[in-house]
Amino acid sequence: MALSVPRIVVVGAGFGGLEAAKALDRAAAEVTVIDRHNHHCFQPLLYQVATAALSPADVAWPIRHILRDQRNATVLMEEVVAVDAARKYIRTTMNEIPYDYLVLATGATHSYFGHDEWAPVAPGLKRIEDATRIRRSILIAFERAEAMADRAAQNRLLTFVIVGGGATGVEMAGAIADIARQTLAADFRNIDPRAARIVLIEAGPRLLPAFPPDMSDYVRATLMKAGVDVRTDTMVTKCDEGGVDTNAGRIDAGTVIWAAGVVASPAARWLGVEADRAGRVKVGPDLSLPDHPEIFVIGDTAAVFASDGHPVPGIAPAAKQMGHYVGTLIAARVAGQSGGKPFRYRHLGDLATIGRRAAVVKFGRLQLKGFVGWVFWSVAHIYFLIGLRYRFMVAFTWFWDYLTFQRGARLITGSEQPRQK
Ligand SMILES: Cc1cc2nc3c(=O)[nH]c(=O)nc-3n(C[C@H](O)[C@H](O)[C@H](O)COP(=O)(O)OP(=O)(O)OC[C@H]3O[C@@H](n4cnc5c(N)ncnc54)[C@H](O)[C@@H]3O)c2cc1C
Repeated sequence: MALSVPRIVVVGAGFGGLEAAKALDRAAAEVTVIDRHNHHCFQPLLYQVATAALSPADVAWPIRHILRDQRNATVLMEEVVAVDAARKYIRTTMNEIPYDYLVLATGATHSYFGHDEWAPVAPGLKRIEDATRIRRSILIAFERAEAMADRAAQNRLLTFVIVGGGATGVEMAGAIADIARQTLAADFRNIDPRAARIVLIEAGPRLLPAFPPDMSDYVRATLMKAGVDVRTDTMVTKCDEGGVDTNAGRIDAGTVIWAAGVVASPAARWLGVEADRAGRVKVGPDLSLPDHPEIFVIGDTAAVFASDGHPVPGIAPAAKQMGHYVGTLIAARVAGQSGGKPFRYRHLGDLATIGRRAAVVKFGRLQLKGFVGWVFWSVAHIYFLIGLRYRFMVAFTWFWDYLTFQRGARLITGSEQPRQK
């Protein structure tokens, strides 16, 4: 490739970064995609890995493979630690890499609202490693309880607390209830897995605040029917090895899962620019920095507002739309065209599943719930998976699990010590 073509560096191969890179497919440019992992992770299905329904390889694919046919793209597995906007370099743990255009799409991570010390005892779900760690602690809880004579200790081990009543919390609670009441029901001799206690804690007045109140009520009723103890208006004040403290009392638990908040990647710090309360970079109408039109920030790392004044939500379609917009814009600039319309977000809808046979769906005026919602949810997620083989495998796995109540990925792996004592 000629040395004189513009160098476009895309940091992060999540939903936003990949879409940006793909939109640069035909640009006469050198596109470098950098990610600290070698895989793109389909986060909406991570909870299925955490609850043993799917294997990690069902929801994550090598970035190198995804971009293998894009001749102008090079993939580097490196961690970015700084940006020198004046010299137009990014620094990784190994290299300095120059750019003419920079797209930062480094996503977000869990926020413990100033209590990072809770992280080791209340893991969040963001990466494949988080999902396998949570899967391990859920499955180990049952194994340890089976081997334990003391009833009180058994009860504590078989109590699962999920903090946060958004989509991830609801999905985790429903799936753990399925594991306890169905998948494992007949597998143990000294404990009855169906007696496991699953507590879903939400600080606000209702679950899934992005949905209309009647759908939140439906979600709550469905979870309660599945045996989940739903506690809204309840604030967690402390997480420790033995459970959680809340404003309504202590809950002893063997497993605590954090699904309560997110904070953006440190891109604002790298750039030395203003961020909002969630750490997201404030960008202009074309998603670039006001003082650096060659630097774009997209996806969960950017604070963007829709035309109605509402913040663009931190969801995959939003990141993809931003990625496509920025990739197309840079391609136009590289081709010598200028201008272009400001970014416009189009909200497609909201989806959340509740256990193995119910979901809520809100797509414009279309509102679905129950089994029909679940079918819609399943088809939508299979559609967005990458590659025919994965679509087929996931669809088959779900169909099989649906018929048999089984979960095929019940492996306890890894050497990390479980937190249950
Ligand atoms: C458990 C869970 C469930 C979700 N469910 C849904 C859902 O059902 N529907 C929905 O629409 N959205 C869902 N989301 C939100 C959605 O996944 C995000 O909004 C989306 O991934 C944001 O895309 P992004 O490109 O901004 O970041 P990401 O997709 O998170 O990608 C960021 C990438 O940057 C890389 N990276 C980060 N820091 C560095 C660094 N320093 N150096 C190099 N690389 C770096 C990461 O490895 C990652 O690959 C869910 C999120 C989670 C965590």
